[in-house]
Amino acid sequence: QFPLGRRLPCDIYWHGVSFHDNNIFSGQVNKFPGMMETVRKITLSRAMRTMQDLFPLEYNFYPRSWILPEELSLFVDEVRTTKDSNPSWKPTFIVKPDGGCQGDGIYLIKDPSDIRLTGSLQSRPAVVQEYICKPLLVDKLKFDIRLYVLLKSLEPLEIYIAKDGLSRFCTEPYQEPTLKNLHQVFMHLTNYSLNIHSGNFIHSDSVNTGSKRTFSSILCRLSSKGADVKKLWSDIISLVIKTIIALTPELKVYYQSDIPAGKPGPTCFQILGFDILLMKNLKPMLLEVNANPSMRIEHEQELSPGVFENVPSPVDEEVKVAVIRDTLRLVDPQKKKRKDTHLSFHTYLLIFPTQLQSLHAGGAGMKDKQHKHHSLKLSLKLKFYLKLGLCQSLKQVPEASEELPDAPRSPEAALPSLCLKQVFPKYARQFSHLCLVDRVAALFIRFLGVKGTTKLGPTGFRTFIRNCKLSNSNFSMAAVDILYIDITRRWNSMGIEKESGMCLQAFVEAFFCLARKKFKSLPLNEQVLSLVEFCEGHLAALPGKRLLWGCG
Ligand code: ADP
Repeated sequence: QFPLGRRLPCDIYWHGVSFHDNNIFSGQVNKFPGMMETVRKITLSRAMRTMQDLFPLEYNFYPRSWILPEELSLFVDEVRTTKDSNPSWKPTFIVKPDGGCQGDGIYLIKDPSDIRLTGSLQSRPAVVQEYICKPLLVDKLKFDIRLYVLLKSLEPLEIYIAKDGLSRFCTEPYQEPTLKNLHQVFMHLTNYSLNIHSGNFIHSDSVNTGSKRTFSSILCRLSSKGADVKKLWSDIISLVIKTIIALTPELKVYYQSDIPAGKPGPTCFQILGFDILLMKNLKPMLLEVNANPSMRIEHEQELSPGVFENVPSPVDEEVKVAVIRDTLRLVDPQKKKRKDTHLSFHTYLLIFPTQLQSLHAGGAGMKDKQHKHHSLKLSLKLKFYLKLGLCQSLKQVPEASEELPDAPRSPEAALPSLCLKQVFPKYARQFSHLCLVDRVAALFIRFLGVKGTTKLGPTGFRTFIRNCKLSNSNFSMAAVDILYIDITRRWNSMGIEKESGMCLQAFVEAFFCLARKKFKSLPLNEQVLSLVEFCEGHLAALPGKRLLWGCG
């Protein structure tokens, strides 16, 4: 913690919530710029929709979703058409406010007319989504899985998945949704923050019982009943890789804007929380991605009415400590050196996650009466380092007010084996055809012009059309301007961002529109691929071409 400001450059910066410090010129930051915005419910749903349009079968792990209020009539129409063609379809939908978390504001409906069209829908847009009515049940209860994923690098893409996760249980036996039980949150919503308030919530000391368990305990149980657990894991790995592929185009736009290529800046990594629901047939479905997953390893216990105490939660400890420890090992700046020289390492951990509040030590200049409390916190912090296996290799920088003992250095070999497993680039080959929007984003970024922006101006769009030779007698530059204005105006009227110009999603829409025009008879993904190759070919032939960002 740096109450008086930071002076020394650091190896690792650990921000509590989001990337927010533009004065970092080296080292590694634990958040990507724009990640919070990219995984919000609406943005995620848009990115998944784009991928579903291109690769419907590959992206059928995300429930069909509509954005409210702008797609209300589309939602109503699509539901009516599906019902007409299949009268036995009796769907349920879940409405989730954008930017909400912990089940906040969520409700279930049976019919589009039940959407609460109050003023709040305008000020607080939402996603309405098909509700998965037949989840896998354990002990008659619905549960979801929280998996931790490390996005270690965006360029080149490197993804790690934690071998174990958490299973969070509902606290009322599940029944398929009916008008009578739609409102029973303890039956339908698996959020820990909601179910903890149910009288039935069971805190357990064991990792395989209670209302929060390890995912591995569920897998053991499924395996003992003959389920194909290997296939389930491989489906989960695909889901994670495909989801991150859907998010990378937007992330790259934010990245080049905050950390322009060629200028000194940090590299980024981030731990993400993936919320996954298993269907009865064991198909994993993505519910959401959390940019700031809770890393708490304790829970509140009510000692007497109104008096609470934080007590350790063995399930959280088992899963989360390993995730943080391995993340630090993987991003360890000295790792390469150590590999070469077999020396042990020092990691300077400078900013603690605010989630670990109980482990926070106070700042410099403490008052005497605070000293005892501070020492207690410090010993907790030391205990935490020990759990991470980093105690012997951690040293605080001079600004911090307390010093950890200078213990002998230990080789990494003394640490437990890694719980984070690399899945990308390991399995990259199977997924490379999905990185199509990424290539569209590379074109977009190339024409953004002035660094620091995320939106394309009309001149940039015209230059793109000219350089890629997309204008001809059938598609005049006047038509290009109309296309730009039409699409940009519509996207900006949705009030997504204040900055004027064409955002990436609008450019993607324009690009798809051009691809349809130019390569009429092909399916959409082939139209887009053909146009990408056409544009890349023309740009490669340009004299004095600038490097495409993201292509090394
Ligand atoms: P929040 O960010 O508020 O937790 P989520 O999208 O995670 O929002 O939804 C909250 C809970 O609602 C999930 O944990 C899950 O139990 C349930 N849920 C969400 N979407 C669906 C869905 N499409 N089908 C079935 N259950 C869902």
